Amino acid sequence: MDMSVKGWIHSVESFGTVDGPGIRYVLFVQGCPLKCLYCHNPDTWSVYDDKQKNKAGSDCVMKSGKLTDSETIVNDILSYKGYIKTGGVTISGGEPLMQPEFVLDIVKRCKENGIHTAIDTSGCIAVSRSKAAIDEADLILLDIKSLDNEQAIKLTGSSNANTLATLDYCEKINKKVWIRHVLLPGWTLDSRRLKALAEYLKAYKCVEIVELLPFHKMGEFKWKELGLNYTLSETKEPSLKEIEQAKNIFIKEGISVTLPG
Ligand code: SF4
Repeated sequence: MDMSVKGWIHSVESFGTVDGPGIRYVLFVQGCPLKCLYCHNPDTWSVYDDKQKNKAGSDCVMKSGKLTDSETIVNDILSYKGYIKTGGVTISGGEPLMQPEFVLDIVKRCKENGIHTAIDTSGCIAVSRSKAAIDEADLILLDIKSLDNEQAIKLTGSSNANTLATLDYCEKINKKVWIRHVLLPGWTLDSRRLKALAEYLKAYKCVEIVELLPFHKMGEFKWKELGLNYTLSETKEPSLKEIEQAKNIFIKEGISVTLPG
């Protein structure tokens, strides 16, 4: 029997242009185990509670997420098929690979319908749990927060070990990867650190491009709304010159770089 898989989502963007190639249907999945200081979607963090899930049935709208299923999602995706034919579907979050079976089933169903799929992940989930979904997807957008584990822990609350293991796994199975990296002044926007990252990535044949994402504060209001302490209020957004310098560090190492917009 063709079983649909239940999963918690945050929201949907039906004409996304910044999360993977072409025009894309972007599904934002609920739940993230990281707590990045610059997160612009802290409202995707909270994870559903299983007790409520059992009580609630399939259509419960919770304070921070909606329970749905893969068949419903893919039917919705198919209603946009004409618009996303040059792009595809990106499953983002939150951390999509926190619900690997749900993501895997969406990817499989998209594949059956000839739709390109990308998973936008921080790679923080153990490969043993995430690999089946990674195997099926066409492209992995892998967000490396920091190559320096000590800094990664301060920035996200978690070690980067699973992220780097995810990259190794993608290399092993020859999965196409776009690296994403946020340029945060005082943290990752540092020529020494960026050079180390560029040198590290150079060894990976699976890495097609690096997307440098200049830090911005567009999500700050959400932290306030949620009663969370946003610690980057005083941090400046990178200047055009700083962004250009960062870009050149990667280009020097022979790595293609893209910037948003
Ligand atoms: S991984 Fe993404 S969703 Fe999770 S805290 Fe970091 S920026 Fe936010």
